[in-house]
Amino acid sequence: MTAASPLSATAYRSVNPADPDDVVLRFSAPGAFAAVDTVERARAAQAGWLLAGAAARSAALGAVAAAVEAAAAELAALAVREVGKPLTEARAEVARTAAIWRYYAQTPYDPVGAVHETAAGAGLLLSRRRPHGVAGLITPWNFPFAIPSWKAAPALAVGNAVVLKPAPQATACAQRLAEIVQQALPAGVFTVLPGDATEGNALVSASDVVSFTGSTTVGQAVVRTATSRGIPVQAEMGGLNAAVVLPDADVERAAAHIAAAIAGYAGQKCTATSRVIAVGAALDPLRDALAEALRAVPVGDPADVATVCGPLIDARARDQVVDAVHGLRVLAGGTVPDGAGWYAAPTLVEGAPPGHRLLCEEVFGPVAALLPAESLEHAVRISNSVPHGLVTSLHTADLDAALGGLDRLDTGMVRINAPSTGVDFHLPFGGTKASSHGAREQGRVALEFYAATRTYTLAP
Ligand code: NAP
Repeated sequence: MTAASPLSATAYRSVNPADPDDVVLRFSAPGAFAAVDTVERARAAQAGWLLAGAAARSAALGAVAAAVEAAAAELAALAVREVGKPLTEARAEVARTAAIWRYYAQTPYDPVGAVHETAAGAGLLLSRRRPHGVAGLITPWNFPFAIPSWKAAPALAVGNAVVLKPAPQATACAQRLAEIVQQALPAGVFTVLPGDATEGNALVSASDVVSFTGSTTVGQAVVRTATSRGIPVQAEMGGLNAAVVLPDADVERAAAHIAAAIAGYAGQKCTATSRVIAVGAALDPLRDALAEALRAVPVGDPADVATVCGPLIDARARDQVVDAVHGLRVLAGGTVPDGAGWYAAPTLVEGAPPGHRLLCEEVFGPVAALLPAESLEHAVRISNSVPHGLVTSLHTADLDAALGGLDRLDTGMVRINAPSTGVDFHLPFGGTKASSHGAREQGRVALEFYAATRTYTLAP
């Protein structure tokens, strides 16, 4: 069984990963024609939303922020139940969601262009950013409020309408977020399109701009379709993130950060650590400290405030963790706890040969491979050797090594003496290579993606 099993071609249910008998939502997928129709209705609503002006758009986005805050406890409980997010992380995600809407509520007042001198010296040139029309947003299940919000809020701020296609596993969360957003916005400006790849594909074929977050395979297909239509597209995709530990690092602190990045939310974050590269003499102490830290991670009911590692999203995801470490030397975990729910113990392995699945593919679970390196140079080569390039964490007491790592690590983000997980929503977010396509998300740069620059000439 999966967390969102099709009951028929168009009927779905999402279930609680900690208790698969608990059905959270039954819903219907409307099909491709209805998806295109949804985009057309959003397009009809968009013109009025743009003409409403900056003050109206700012007030509406601020009202969403306030409503998310007012519903915080209920939203966090829903994320716990529908996607198995541990309560502490679910609360943090909801708080961040409110902060995202509040941040973008200020941006409709930002300048949208510039005035230039003409080359000839007479008249004026204006450059001005205008929204694309309908933004088609396709999102994964693991951040069911924050990811739809960090796409929708900037898209709406600059005057687009939004159609959101959430992952089926997170449809109840998306629908609840939509109720909140729709109360603050004019009718038709924000719509949820439930469904699967059929609706997602129709959305990419009908929207004016597309923003995708999810796996690399699906993201690359979405990029191909959108690019063939000539519309702007961005895709944030998978990671195969490394933690590099130098011999001078505070090993206990590094182990605590890396354990959190491997096991937090059962490793189901694009920024989770899945490769731990220990340089020289760091290997032995780190092996012991990290294995111990992982064994101490509280695994269990996501509704328990002490839980760090809850269930995996479905049985397949859980089984992949154990399959991936088969035949390797297991230093911690490698087991599936008894009882209901799709749990896997936080797992560390050693001895994965070059080309092993753990070193080439994102498993998306609480599992990492420990690898030795001879030097920082060697560690950087190992870190950079994968198709992905989302984030690396570097653990050292040496400022020169840290600064050197910033430039040589080929990832969109580098975090020094911190877990690889963690996002500051007001700064650009994204990776390199197979982890990202197109413009960065979050921060002020997101506003540029959702608008096209036009140039106007005012002759004298
Ligand atoms: P996924 O399977 O790629 O699905 C993502 C979304 O795409 C879902 O809504 C999915 O719907 C939809 N989809 C599938 N096929 C499609 C198609 N042909 N056209 C249009 N849409 C389509 O990813 P997931 O399992 O939900 O999420 C986990 C993945 O997301 C991991 O790889 C993780 O690293 C990545 N992620 C990346 C970031 C980042 O910012 N880099 C953040 C969070 C997660 P269906 O499920 O119905 O197919």
